[in-house]
Amino acid sequence: MNNLILQVENARAYYIVENNYIRAIDDVSLDIREGEVVGIVGESGSGKTTLTNVMLMNIKKPLSFIDGKVSLFSNGRVIELNKIPREELQKNIWGKETSIIPQSAMNALMPTKRIKDSILDVMKTHFEEIHEKEIIDKAKTRFEEIGVSKDAIFRYPFELSGGMRQRAVIAVATLLNPRFLIADEPTSALDVSTQKMVLKTIQNLREKGIVKSIAFITHDIATVRQIAETLVVMYAGKIVEISPMEEIIREPLHPYTKGLLYSVVTPEPEVKKRGVYHIPGAPPNLMYPPPGCRFHPRCKYKLDICKKDEPKLKIINNRKVACFLY
Ligand code: ATP
Ligand code: SF4
Repeated sequence: MNNLILQVENARAYYIVENNYIRAIDDVSLDIREGEVVGIVGESGSGKTTLTNVMLMNIKKPLSFIDGKVSLFSNGRVIELNKIPREELQKNIWGKETSIIPQSAMNALMPTKRIKDSILDVMKTHFEEIHEKEIIDKAKTRFEEIGVSKDAIFRYPFELSGGMRQRAVIAVATLLNPRFLIADEPTSALDVSTQKMVLKTIQNLREKGIVKSIAFITHDIATVRQIAETLVVMYAGKIVEISPMEEIIREPLHPYTKGLLYSVVTPEPEVKKRGVYHIPGAPPNLMYPPPGCRFHPRCKYKLDICKKDEPKLKIINNRKVACFLY
């Protein structure tokens, strides 16, 4: 089993809109191992949020899981999440085994309810019977562990600052100690100092053993570099590169990764030396993705084969890259 926590194999998940297929996740495979923080980056529309929903098997119309396998490894058992009905996922998997800090903290908590009542609602989806005092005590402890006053659970979300609210969402998402946590752009709406605080909170979750592994989704390489050991780069519904973080910053292999690293406004110091570069063109419409390599219309290194055949992820030492140059 090789200490895997979650494994996605050849997953395809498409949005079906008026009989058209938007190929948002197309033959994607990814391993998440115990103890690992994996960063997932890519431009807007590259499929990051859809991959998040695939990892959780939170598949709702118009999204459809076309094929592939999503396996959760738990206490020596392999659970094929893609074969489990939604009600069972809701009851036995989400919150307990896998969990998510969603993009918008404000919407994650019911604005009209005190936080404690939102917590009790969530717990009712997991347990037939709940012991209110036990849950409230547990929530108070988790809030304090995460650096939020325990009294915050008796407040309404709008009474808390942005950073406190985001940390309250983190506390709720991790209340049952899920082994695998996805953080979907958890710092994007926050100012720089609050971002740092929230990032530290997420780092502490693993250090304190509250969660085992984390997938951190973001546009921002500088942010993810502070927390993840492995970086996954997505382009147009596919993973194009997977690499240890420092190696990819030092030497990106895929032409898209190079573009992504060299085009940021405030590049990392190592990247700055190589100069800023803008990737021409725009990502494709995923209803009609280009044949061959999906990046070929924008790639200055393209070969004839790139327009016809699709590059698969190839292992190069401890890295993986999907490009015919390798
Ligand atoms: P962002 O960083 O902007 O959140 P993303 O990388 O998370 O983007 P997704 O949101 O997963 O990308 O979108 C992948 C593709 O699926 C895009 O082409 C997007 O337009 C499409 N898509 C996303 N949600 C829907 C939907 N509900 N209906 C139809 N198409 C959708
Ligand atoms: Fe460029 Fe070809 Fe590599 Fe795609 S496969 S990134 S088009 S060189």
